[in-house]
Amino acid sequence: MTDLLTLKAYAKLNLGLRVLGLRDDGFHELHTHMHTIGLFDELTFQKTSENSSIAMVPEVDFPLEKNLVYKAIRLFQEKSGVSENVHCKLKKAIPMGAGLGGGSSDAAATLVALNQLLQTNISDETLASWGAELGSDIPFFIYGGFACARGRGEKLLPLISTYKRHHFVVMVPPIECSTPQVYQSWDAHFSTIPRRRISCEQMDHQNDLQAAACHRYPELNPYGRLIQSAPTELKGMSGSGSAWYAGFPNQEEAEAYRNELETLVDDAQIYCVKTV
Ligand code: C5P
Repeated sequence: MTDLLTLKAYAKLNLGLRVLGLRDDGFHELHTHMHTIGLFDELTFQKTSENSSIAMVPEVDFPLEKNLVYKAIRLFQEKSGVSENVHCKLKKAIPMGAGLGGGSSDAAATLVALNQLLQTNISDETLASWGAELGSDIPFFIYGGFACARGRGEKLLPLISTYKRHHFVVMVPPIECSTPQVYQSWDAHFSTIPRRRISCEQMDHQNDLQAAACHRYPELNPYGRLIQSAPTELKGMSGSGSAWYAGFPNQEEAEAYRNELETLVDDAQIYCVKTV
């Protein structure tokens, strides 16, 4: 039996996102297409006879009980009935408050890791349904790849990726967006705009949360304008921001745009990554 397990938790991009309305449970009805990308956190789990714990690298002062990895460990123990504790070393690379799903991906990786480490043989489908209790995007990260998500984001339809060779330039401004606040901005300023349901084939790269995020955080606008001038049709904001992306069919075009962007902006983190 292995006692140590290391997993990658990939970030995602929303390559199109429609907000269809506010639901009775306070969440919003969504239709979005998500793709995992090669920007990842790394999680190493080890069984321990002591209490479960998390060591973040770089170190962050964050209460253990609020950490999604810790919540996922507790959820796994509660649902599976296996009480064994684990220590997790979490190497963070995915920026937080960027709409890249870092916390949700870490939580999904935790459920997958514990299932392997503790040999509980639980199906991905069950892990995804457990994960949905912790966060809307967690079921997507159990599977990764390219998928259409509806409902709160937890109802998934896997899609054949047309972006397998694509590379994405991802620009993360020095602004952390609060997802609840971006949705509140959508409720207050954009919810009355008429919208119609579209099929998966009709999904384009529009993100309905972009206007809401830019209204709440106007300092996002200059970065958005920069991305709008990228030489590609495939561009926009991911999730509730603050990350912007521009996608290219090959690495050379993406690297060329990354180099250009680096001469235009000096206070954003810029990544050039492949889809996963
Ligand atoms: O599900 P998750 O915890 O990731 O959601 C974070 C916040 O984003 C929720 O508390 C809610 O304010 C908002 N949200 C929403 N509708 C969704 C997903 C998230 O309103 N479909």
